[in-house]
Amino acid sequence: MATPRLEIHLDRITHNARQLAALCASKGIGIAAVTKGVCGSPEIGAALVQSGVQVLADSRLANLRRMREAGIAAQYMLTRSPKLSEVEQVVQFADVSLNTEMQVVRQLARHAARQGKVHGVIWMVELGDLREGLPKRAVADAAGETLSLPGVELAGIGTNLGCFSGIKPTQGKMLELSEIAVSIQERFGVKLKVVSGGNSANYEWLVSTSNVGLINQLRIGEAILLGRETLYRRPIPELYTDAFTLVAEVIECQLKPSAPDGEVALDAFGHVPHVEDRGWRWRVILALGEQDTATSAIRPRIEAEILGATSDHLVLDMADRSLAVGAEVAFDVRYEALLRAMTSPYVLKVHL
Ligand SMILES: *Cc1c(COP(=O)(O)O)cnc(C)c1O
Repeated sequence: MATPRLEIHLDRITHNARQLAALCASKGIGIAAVTKGVCGSPEIGAALVQSGVQVLADSRLANLRRMREAGIAAQYMLTRSPKLSEVEQVVQFADVSLNTEMQVVRQLARHAARQGKVHGVIWMVELGDLREGLPKRAVADAAGETLSLPGVELAGIGTNLGCFSGIKPTQGKMLELSEIAVSIQERFGVKLKVVSGGNSANYEWLVSTSNVGLINQLRIGEAILLGRETLYRRPIPELYTDAFTLVAEVIECQLKPSAPDGEVALDAFGHVPHVEDRGWRWRVILALGEQDTATSAIRPRIEAEILGATSDHLVLDMADRSLAVGAEVAFDVRYEALLRAMTSPYVLKVHL
């Protein structure tokens, strides 16, 4: 079979989604399955829906569109704040979006009303991670104006931690979000459908909390796809961490000195390489590079050390073991590697 290829065990993804959904459900929380790590793959989207997931979420409208046009029946959520230049298509392809700008929501409302739709608006609250989110004091006013606009529905509020600054979604942060929800509900006499507490970084909070407050949704990508929480990248019990395997092919295996020969200047990516002299070693080149994946985020399933990579070559130190030209080497992928492999047109995707 062609290489490089990403082998995708759909049944393992389905298993992970079911397990996490059950765990969340035991605390009264629903899941929005986030597909941006897999480019909105319709095969994976379908597997997630088959596992019982009702909301498919993605940061890119093109990915939501891809799944929707593949006929996958779900509620579609756009997780990255909509671009002002794409509000019309947001209303067309997403049922609900996470928002931080009133002027964008006004335009969503205008286009939704025009298309005869009601678009769900979730206001994101900044609770310390300093990526997207309104300051706490501004959320209630935004919610109030949303209630007055035809074409949009105030679906709820949410927050996103553990991403840009690695801030932990603690019980304190979750109760803070809950309290904001309570105050909006009291001030406007409404019930918020969604209080969206976070992402895969919320796993530790989820298993340890005995009081979820009003939090009733988590948006989960990596934990479903790779079976790990994201604060410490620890494997989650009973989940598969190997739903994805990246496979590459040996194009050269030669016995070579480990220290380069000559005057040292910059490498392919503008760095000065530091090399340790380990004597003569079997050195393998695989037809895999930065154009195919994030090579710093893969791990070979054989005994071998990755020495480095350029755009199209991955170099392995095999010590005293050689490999046959044409042999295949399998790798585990971390999130960045999965993301890049899914995005790369050079990597064949094989669903198993
Ligand atoms: C990416 C993202 C998620 C999912 O994050 P994971 O770590 O993959 O679970 C959830 N919410 C938002 C806003 C995101 O950008």
